[in-house]
Order: sequence, then structure tokens, then C-alpha cells
Amino acid sequence: MSIPKNLPSPASGYRGRFAPSPTGPLHAGSLVAALGSWLDARKNGGKWLLRIEDLDTPRCIPEATQQIQSQLLACGLSWDEEIIYQSQRQEAYQRALDRLNDLECLYACACSRQTIANTLASLGIETPRNQEMVYPGTCRPAYLISNLTEDFKDSGKAWRIALPPNCHVDFQDLALGHQSQNLNQEVGDFVLRRSDGLFTYQLAVVVDDAEQGITHIVRGEDLLSNTARQIYLQKVLGYQRPEYLHLPLVLDEYGEKLSKQTLATQINTQDDKRSLMELRKAAKHLGLKNLPDSQNSTIAEWLLAATRAWKN
Ligand code: GLU
Repeated sequence: MSIPKNLPSPASGYRGRFAPSPTGPLHAGSLVAALGSWLDARKNGGKWLLRIEDLDTPRCIPEATQQIQSQLLACGLSWDEEIIYQSQRQEAYQRALDRLNDLECLYACACSRQTIANTLASLGIETPRNQEMVYPGTCRPAYLISNLTEDFKDSGKAWRIALPPNCHVDFQDLALGHQSQNLNQEVGDFVLRRSDGLFTYQLAVVVDDAEQGITHIVRGEDLLSNTARQIYLQKVLGYQRPEYLHLPLVLDEYGEKLSKQTLATQINTQDDKRSLMELRKAAKHLGLKNLPDSQNSTIAEWLLAATRAWKN
């Protein structure tokens, strides 16, 4: 499959990114992802981009976009290029969807979550709470017979990618080593555009990473289970596969991942002293050692030392 020509060449060097969803201000967990990806880019003499993933508009909080930027800047984590907003990139996602449609690997799906849950239950498959349901392929036979006749633009249905049989994805995570996922068994045909017309994270992140020429994706381990889907989409769309490095999650006192949805406390970047304290906590979580005492260093000095201490 040929690589689309208008993408930035990976030969132009390391390009990393931080891609927060503006569902709230940064908390200790998101600072770990921001700092880890920033340090990896700086250590490798690369660029670090900021992308605001404001795709799921009902979940986004308007002021969070500005808060996140102010918090990053207060911590000295500046970005190198213009910020990309996913809410402004519908045409790019539609183009990718059109391409997949041309490749005849999409089908329309009218299943609600409840229908899927009922079908799985009738098959004796139970999905633990908070875990994604493996799509049982209910709408797929129609696709196989009709070979796509519907116009997906205004169908009011979700659009799923039809996975080939034995769709097994293997990759090497720079921190966690060899990873492997059988997409048929563990995910099923997944949604690229929802019935309400919103493009999904899986499609948007793959299109944006490719169009921004991202060579290294450094992010929290909570996203590890999405990676195989993204690698599969990259392959079908003819994009280069970036390197992946997943960072350890920050857990709360109940062992749950910190998240904006569970109202994790935002980091305190009121002044340099407090920002440095937050950075030190994040660095400790990332396993960085022998960093200068924040009392006696500026943020810039501390970040330089942290970059030297970064191993990857
Ligand atoms: N927007 C996603 C989040 O905030 C991160 C996406 C990514 O890094 O791939 O969880």
C-alpha cells in the first residue's frame, strides 16, 4: 500500500506530541504524560507538539483548553508548532473515512449499546463493568452481502471497520516490550464514526498523528489497549507506524486511574515553586533520579537536568 505523499517525512526527525482531551484541567496523571513526552522529545532533539483532542464535544469543558495551556507553560513545557484542534479537523477525518469506504472496509451499524449487550448475553458472554464490549458482528452479514450500498454521510448509523479474519497486531513498546492483540477476539469491528456523526478517537488520533508526522507516541498506559487498533488503521490507510512508549499510570488511593471524570485534583501551578513541586512529583513517578533540589533551581534549570536524566 502506498504512503500518502503530503505527510511530513519521518526523515525530518523526531516528532512527539501531547494530546489531552479538554475535559478538565491537568491533574498529576496528565502531567506525567505531558512531562514524559516532552522529556523524550527534548532528549532526542525533537519537536513536541500540542494537540487538543476536543472531538467529543459534549464531554469537553470550554475553559479547560486554556487551563491546560496555562498549566503546561507554567511548568515550562512549551510546544513547538501551532496547536491543532480536533474540532476543526472534520474534513480530514471524513477524507480518511471516504478512503476506507473506497477500500470497501466499512459497514453501517444500527446496534445500540443495549442491543450489543443483549446479543453478547444471549451468546453467554459477560463483559465486566467498565470494560469495552467486543462487537459480535451483528450488522456485518448485511455488509458482506450488499457490499456497501448506503451513503454513510447521513445514515444516522454508526460506521464500523470490517476486520479481516485473524487480525492479530504485534508491536514493540519502548517501555513495556512486546505487545500483541487479537483484534477479532478482543475488540471486534470497531466504530470510526458514531451514529450521532462524531468521529471516534481511534480514527482521529491516527489521522492526526500521521498528518502531523508524529514519529513517537509517548502517553499513559491506559491507552495501551487502543494501540493495536490504531496500528491496524495506520496499515489500512497506508500511514507510517510511529514508535510507542506507554508510561506508568498515577493511581488514586483506591487503585483507580486518576481522571478528569472522577474529578482528580488539578495540579497547582500558582507560582514557580508549586509548579516545580508538581514537576518533581511527576518526575519521581517516571523514575527519574538525582534531580536538583527544586528549592535552588529555576524551572528551566530543573527541566534541563530532567532531560539529561531521562533514559529512553
Ligand atoms: N486524548 C487522549 C486523552 O486525553 C490521549 C490520546 C493519545 O495520547 O493518544 O486521554
